[in-house]
Amino acid sequence: MPDAAISRLVHIISHAAQASDFQHQAHLVVEGISQTLSVDVCSLYQLDHQQNLQLLASQGLKNIHPVSIPKGKGLVGQVVDTIQIVNIIDPEQQPDYFYIPNTDEDRFKSFCGIPLIQQACVVGVLVVQRKQPIVISVEDEAILLTLAAHLALLLNNLPAPLGEIQQKIIKGVSGAKGVAIGHALLCQSETLASVNIQHSQDSNKEQLAWKALQQDALNELLQESEQVKASIGESLALVLEAYQQLLLDPLFISQVDSYISTGDTLPWALKQAVNYFADMFLAMDDPYLQARHEDIFHLGDKLYQIWNRTQAQHIESAESKAVDIERPFILCGDTISVSDIASLPAEKLKGIVCSGGAALSHVAVFANALGIPAVMGVGELSIQNHDKLIVDGDRGEVHLNPADSLIKEYRVLIKGWQIFKRETKQACHLPAITQDGHRVIVMANSGLQADILPGLNHGAEGIGLYRTELPFMVRSNLPTEDEQISIYRQVIEAYGDKPVCFRLLDIGGDKPLSYLPFIREENPALGLRGIRFLLGNELILKTQIRAILHASLDANNAQLLLPMITTTQELDRLIYLLDSEVQGLNQLGVNAQRPPLGVMVEVPSIISMLPLWKSRIDFVSIGSNDLSQYLLAIDRNNPQVALYYDPLHPGVLYELSRIVKTATEYGLPLSVCGEMASDPVAALFLLGMGVRRISISAAHIPTIKWLIQQVNTKDTKQLITTALAMENASDIRKLGEQMLANFSKETNYLS
Ligand code: PEP
Ligand code: MG
Repeated sequence: MPDAAISRLVHIISHAAQASDFQHQAHLVVEGISQTLSVDVCSLYQLDHQQNLQLLASQGLKNIHPVSIPKGKGLVGQVVDTIQIVNIIDPEQQPDYFYIPNTDEDRFKSFCGIPLIQQACVVGVLVVQRKQPIVISVEDEAILLTLAAHLALLLNNLPAPLGEIQQKIIKGVSGAKGVAIGHALLCQSETLASVNIQHSQDSNKEQLAWKALQQDALNELLQESEQVKASIGESLALVLEAYQQLLLDPLFISQVDSYISTGDTLPWALKQAVNYFADMFLAMDDPYLQARHEDIFHLGDKLYQIWNRTQAQHIESAESKAVDIERPFILCGDTISVSDIASLPAEKLKGIVCSGGAALSHVAVFANALGIPAVMGVGELSIQNHDKLIVDGDRGEVHLNPADSLIKEYRVLIKGWQIFKRETKQACHLPAITQDGHRVIVMANSGLQADILPGLNHGAEGIGLYRTELPFMVRSNLPTEDEQISIYRQVIEAYGDKPVCFRLLDIGGDKPLSYLPFIREENPALGLRGIRFLLGNELILKTQIRAILHASLDANNAQLLLPMITTTQELDRLIYLLDSEVQGLNQLGVNAQRPPLGVMVEVPSIISMLPLWKSRIDFVSIGSNDLSQYLLAIDRNNPQVALYYDPLHPGVLYELSRIVKTATEYGLPLSVCGEMASDPVAALFLLGMGVRRISISAAHIPTIKWLIQQVNTKDTKQLITTALAMENASDIRKLGEQMLANFSKETNYLS
């Protein structure tokens, strides 16, 4: 856009920024456009739920209240139907022309309508008109298009006009699968976000208040975790214990101390410390750890709420208490903490909708464990208390005030889903054997203490991927050898004689450790990570190897897995160091043994190396998350390109089947530990290729085991053959979905 156009755009935006509410803002935008682009009319229309266009604001039309253009009528309707810009002169000569009575519209000889699009749907139209028959220039069209993108966002979040019940579909991401119907209950507690800069005259008083607050919060968290243990279950109380650990973290405490000592009030000190730690987590590229930043915010809000109570300033929100929690409700909020959930009757809580958060948020983990659907990241909440909602956790969407017919359809779905869940949960401790007798081993991915029990409870036959970097990343310094031994031993012991596969630290590059000096890299995913980092930091590597060897002394179920391996030199050096550590321990009289050694297949170039490495390694594990990222050149964590990241891309499927063929030919046991194995459609293709060992998140194990029990491998073999002749991922997915639909109507819940 040329500089002159940008300055005109800035003028319009800064003009509109003076407004405090949307109606006023809409008025200032149309006024600003009229002045800046020298047009005679500028109007903004919003599409209502019956697809009629309601005029929200206009500069230049006469007698405009109220104006409604019926669905599909006129040039404005044409803009909506075609989702195209209409930029013409002599509009009244067009067959689609529709005169809005009493507005004197017929005086205008040029018309330009721009669709306002939000998430691929038209939500309104921006129109400019001139008395002169001159089309709007390309440059002005670009300005209008830019403004339209902003207006679309605002319109989408606008509450329904008074008296009209707002009906719409709100899109987010799936946090927990399943479907639920209920009334909205808004989580309206005070948050640290509302605290502004405040200084205190008395730092000692603030320090004393901080000490008392720590104790009060600790007591309350202990009480809540006892409550959760009793009402919901032991494993979920771990989330509240994580809040306690954060609260006791000396770094966090000293950070608040130091803000107070520079003269800040306790709430302001808390807010700064919370932001500091949240930013630290957010900067991590591992999505699991990134999601932990929410825990810090939740803890901060909890501390602030307790502080407010002790200040006797807390006024119980009359409205939130008035909401009827006797009938099924859906908890909705900007962020929802586990404490919020714990304080409500679990049997009435049917679903969760969160404006922030991601699929790996603790709230999502909690919802999964409770077996209720959750939709995360829906953006600004346009939901009111008591609104009727359908939460579709499978599609990651929420229906706001849905029609009765839709509710009926969903009720049928919910009934089927409940039966299906009961069935899969019952069968999850049975082996996964296909209809034609092929046994598939289904293991769990893990990395934190909190994952151990869910894996076992869901029928995991071992741990196929233990991400050792996670315990390193949640700390503020390197764990000692003894600390590591105790972490690894816990998992080994919990799984008895089942295999536990420890992947050596996959840090560096996009997963830095906050307490080690890392040099910023231009392309971290292609940088110093995994084995490359470890071989440059042999002290850390050797300590970790010794800890794993020690932890597995009396057990023979541990395995070692190498992350991001690319070259033979890396493999040979690693084997040399591993053997040296085993020998070193043996010389000290410790009966250590070299565990089976495998490599992650995640860098595409090593697919061709496997035949050469066959006698040096004991197994391979396909990391389909990174393998897809590197094959497709798509950042797996970048929401901007998430739409294109699809492991069902024919090129990825082809490479996966090449790996399986090579591993089979050279006698290398193989498993798949990337997320794709937990996608039922992708699982069918993997089975067809011959994959007989997978490792997935605990929550998905029952469904995938159930699916395997329905499948005949001959059919899946045919399926992958057909898929490999196809050209795009969406056709391949449809093909897989057709097979799922054949098993029974219940497989609706899988795709
Ligand atoms: C993978 O890349 O598929 C994998 C399992 O490893 P991570 O997700 O930890 O990178
Ligand atoms: Mg990986």
